[in-house]
Amino acid sequence: MALKIIEGCVNCWACAPLCPSRAVGEAKPHFRIDVRRCTECEGNQAEPQCASICPIEGSILDGLGVPMNPRGSLTGIPPQRMAAAMAEIRAR
Ligand code: SF4
Ligand code: SF4
Repeated sequence: MALKIIEGCVNCWACAPLCPSRAVGEAKPHFRIDVRRCTECEGNQAEPQCASICPIEGSILDGLGVPMNPRGSLTGIPPQRMAAAMAEIRAR
């Protein structure tokens, strides 16, 4: 199976150089993973390198369509608190 990059990806380039299979490529509107190349990093690394570096929650899915970095996993802000937290930050 292969991982998948979806909307939300901000084309930051962090993941592409880390991919041992050169499966991540620049594309529009966002980067994409070549399903023929992606090995999910099995045998190479302890965890998928693209997902381990990606700073945007929910932008990379596993082979079953489940977010590798679900909402709240990187920011520590639970989804139900996000709107209030953003309003708080903007008001500073
Ligand atoms: S899971 Fe590994 S092989 Fe697949 S795109 Fe990400 S870094 Fe590349
Ligand atoms: S690290 Fe995440 S946000 Fe950056 S290009 Fe890769 S998938 Fe997109």
